[in-house]
Amino acid sequence: MRVLLVEDDGLIASGIVAGLHAFGISCEHVSDGAEAQAVHAGSGFDAAVLDLGLPDCDGIELLPILRATDPALPVLVLTARDAVEHRLSGLNGGADDYLVKPFDLRELAARLHAITRRAQGRGEPAIKAGPLRLEPASGLAWLDGAPVELSRREIDILTQLASANGRWLRAEALHERVYGLDDPVSSNALNVHIHNIRRKLGAEAIQTQRGLGYRLGWRPA
Ligand code: CA
Repeated sequence: MRVLLVEDDGLIASGIVAGLHAFGISCEHVSDGAEAQAVHAGSGFDAAVLDLGLPDCDGIELLPILRATDPALPVLVLTARDAVEHRLSGLNGGADDYLVKPFDLRELAARLHAITRRAQGRGEPAIKAGPLRLEPASGLAWLDGAPVELSRREIDILTQLASANGRWLRAEALHERVYGLDDPVSSNALNVHIHNIRRKLGAEAIQTQRGLGYRLGWRPA
């Protein structure tokens, strides 16, 4: 992930650059609004981190300018603790999120991942069906609130069944959606995964009907 960091405080900026680097996020740091516009015009960023108090402008004024060239750009606003008004105007101004200084860099990294995910249309990653909660993107799953260990394939199968929204999926169709058309996997592999899913989530998790195929045992919410 590549992030545009607009922050005039050099010490804070270098801390953020180093800190985010540890989380696999690279920053292009600029110190004022003019620089931000110049750099932004030339290259695509995955997100921007915007300090509100800049020497040549109010950070919030930059938001529409950055969005003019990149309308979907996720923006996180940094604000001082005493600037509650600013914070609210930041969100009203179209920022995706904000953090109050001082903040934990882990928090900043997590929020940046969240707002970029959201911008990529994966804001609602969880599937809920009966006692099952599933996050296809992260591969996490819970049954009645307790974490369940599921393999990537098992997650894929459940996700496909959930997206069928109560309808039956023929074995060939399910196989194709999970493995793709070209992947010559034996149909037995699918059976093994379904067997394992039932073992982990209960027999009722996946229904089978001869001639119809498979169906999720719970209706997606
Ligand atoms: Ca500042």
